Amino acid sequence: MARRVFTAAALVAVTALAAGCTQAVDGLAKAVRPDVSKVSGLDITTGESGAKPGVPDADLRVENADGGEMDRLAINTLADVEEYWSEQFPTNFDDKKFEPVKRLVSYDSNGTGVEICRTNTKGVANAFYCSLDDSIAWDRGDLLPMLDDAFGPMAVVTVLAHEMGHAVQYKLGEKGGINQSTPSIIKEQQADCYAGNFFRWVAEGKSKHFRISTGPGLNQVLATMFFIRDAAGTSAEKQGAHGSAFDRVAAFQFGFAGDPKRCADIDEQEIKSRITQQKFDPQEKDEGQGKGNLKVDDRRSLELLEESLRNAYKQSGATPPTLKQGDAECPDAQETSPASYCPATNTIAIDLPDLAKIGTPPKRGQKGGIGDFAAFAEIASRFALSIQKATGYSLEGPAAGLRTACLTGAWAGTTTESSARLRLSSGDLDEAVAELLADRSLIAADVNGTVVPSGFARVEAFRDGFFEGSGLCTRKYSG
Ligand SMILES: [Zn+2]
Repeated sequence: MARRVFTAAALVAVTALAAGCTQAVDGLAKAVRPDVSKVSGLDITTGESGAKPGVPDADLRVENADGGEMDRLAINTLADVEEYWSEQFPTNFDDKKFEPVKRLVSYDSNGTGVEICRTNTKGVANAFYCSLDDSIAWDRGDLLPMLDDAFGPMAVVTVLAHEMGHAVQYKLGEKGGINQSTPSIIKEQQADCYAGNFFRWVAEGKSKHFRISTGPGLNQVLATMFFIRDAAGTSAEKQGAHGSAFDRVAAFQFGFAGDPKRCADIDEQEIKSRITQQKFDPQEKDEGQGKGNLKVDDRRSLELLEESLRNAYKQSGATPPTLKQGDAECPDAQETSPASYCPATNTIAIDLPDLAKIGTPPKRGQKGGIGDFAAFAEIASRFALSIQKATGYSLEGPAAGLRTACLTGAWAGTTTESSARLRLSSGDLDEAVAELLADRSLIAADVNGTVVPSGFARVEAFRDGFFEGSGLCTRKYSG
């Protein structure tokens, strides 16, 4: 996040904006309220994810394969993804037939290079679709084993389903809304969305070789999307931009919840309305925590945060909670870390050392926390509980957890306003995604720290609040 000097001109702008927001969410139909025990209409499951046992391997012709575990995983994936698209093309795109990808190529980036797509693969730890010869290639030496080690086999499926998304784009041609001059961010958002379509089918149990739980299984898929995000400070307009984690996860989720036509509809206008990826503000200074990160246990930072939270929820009319350091000593809720909300006293107790751990981004090659936004959002989530208490909502259970994530997102939305003294910087929303996917995260936790088991639902609720404001949160997640 960043500090900004307050100006009188900017003040006028925010008042107008806030008035507009409340009206925009009026009259939301009851029908759109999600069942908080489900994820996009599917039950939240916690079973096994990965290869289905006892299923014979697919038989696809692959050049340069070594027959090892990574190639088998890739081949089974591509067979199932192609089966999915063979089913979907005719029903979604005017009886169009899906032609399988012409060339599948395995290579080892540590070994002798092969020529593909006018590139020599030596040292190229990647997976890609190439429209020049309609091929998909993957590095079985470095990339695939690294993904598998870090996030499990469904990470490999995620990356290859995304690459097949580019093949889908190419094969759809105009029906997919893509041409030679389409900016890369649109192509990448569509490919992430098409991958989401495929994972819905897997989650419904329709894939021959794979299964996935909608709880921990999808969490790993979203963690993979986080891992392959563009670095903070990348512009969405940059040629080759793939998107921030926040934007990539959104596209995947739209695909998971919708059909392939939803993905083909992603165009320049939609991108303009919802893409958050942006360069760092040139005025922004590095205060010793890396660009875009304030020191979270600094008194001034915490004062700015408190002011920002009070402004964000002002319209609720609730008495703001008192922030203090140290133990919670609360008679009616369990203590949580790094911050606790106590309903009885309307107090938030903050554990500064724990807060600093989450708020300090990792140094290159080291383990560390996440960043300032992740830490501030933890406090914001406890603040959001006090608003819920004052307005008569329950503070316990899954609906309270998702409402909290949504209200925290609503606060984040107010930090993009030009008048905000504590402002969102590039990379902050990706810190939110990282924190939301962590199982101990308070952003989507109820007053006792109990977290909704689906990271998918947690991120979705946060995004709802970010784009639509707090009015939507109490309507949609009324539980
Ligand atoms: Zn791509």
